[in-house]
Amino acid sequence: MDSGMIGKIEKARRYAEEPERVRFEQFRLQFQGTNGPHTVTYANGTWHCTCRFFSTRGVCSHTMAMERILGIMIPAEVVAPALAGPVPVMA
Ligand SMILES: [Zn+2]
Repeated sequence: MDSGMIGKIEKARRYAEEPERVRFEQFRLQFQGTNGPHTVTYANGTWHCTCRFFSTRGVCSHTMAMERILGIMIPAEVVAPALAGPVPVMA
């Protein structure tokens, strides 16, 4: 392997440890929910999900789960307010 490629691999390893360098602009994915698959999309800072709950509330367990999975790679202002506060304890 040439030294140029070795340098790129080393840089890729450093980059992979700094996910704050990455900002998603758009994507589409299939989320396998408990009751079936849902299509989740993200574009221009806006989430969408094909599940029934999202259609009435504008947020759902699938989009909130993706926010947790992607963490800092999604702009903080996009993350649902529900995730910003403390998680309510179920009695
Ligand atoms: Zn959903």
